Amino acid sequence: MSHKKITIAIDGFSSTGKSTVAKQLAKHLGYVYIDSGAMYRAVTYFAMSNGLIDENNFNVEELISKLDNVSVSFKFNKDLGFAEVYLNGINVEKEIRTLEVSNYVSKVSAIPQVRQQLVRQQHKMGEEKGIVMDGRDIGTVVFPDAELKLFMTASAETRALRRYNELKAKGENVTYQDVLQNVQERDYLDSTREDSPLYKANDAIEIDNSNMSLDEQFKTILDLVNAVLKR
Ligand code: C5P
Repeated sequence: MSHKKITIAIDGFSSTGKSTVAKQLAKHLGYVYIDSGAMYRAVTYFAMSNGLIDENNFNVEELISKLDNVSVSFKFNKDLGFAEVYLNGINVEKEIRTLEVSNYVSKVSAIPQVRQQLVRQQHKMGEEKGIVMDGRDIGTVVFPDAELKLFMTASAETRALRRYNELKAKGENVTYQDVLQNVQERDYLDSTREDSPLYKANDAIEIDNSNMSLDEQFKTILDLVNAVLKR
């Protein structure tokens, strides 16, 4: 195997399977995997826990003033095989995956001060390369020089069904309609916000996995990685 270490940026809409393939790649290559969405989710969970956001209100100014007290970090969990996210030293991996967090996260991630703080941290994590990071702005803003950029897509219905099955399996009481609505709303907010909107970088390779098995997808992407490593 090549000793060259690269940066792999994976962007795309919600629930396109970015984290699944990112984890597979990191494991296979011995790279670090960073789920940047988990960082935005952790800040959102902080805002919810401190009463700064709910259905009717969002106290943006107060959240910005409290950002210095928000520390998001990752710790590798050997049993799970990936790094879990911590908010101020507490493992919040489960708490950040609920539909409630999903319903607020796109509002929180649209705040430039939140993005500045998290992108600064993401830059540090990627300094030594050998990293796979997934999110919405990784190939466009965070690592514009990444050696491999992927842009994942799938139909909204396919994605909502995948997410619905995941949440159900975790015992969350949700309907398919609620999940579909959340996926569509986040697609819209994430791709129309002013700061770092989601779009496909010119040099990103689009992967539509609506009709691909996990195995097929992994093989397709691994071929792309190997082609870059051989260059
Ligand atoms: O990837 P995931 O769906 O967990 O991301 C949750 C949300 O975090 C996205 O809908 C988006 O609003 C925000 N996000 C972002 N930039 C990233 C990663 C996630 O704005 N790089």
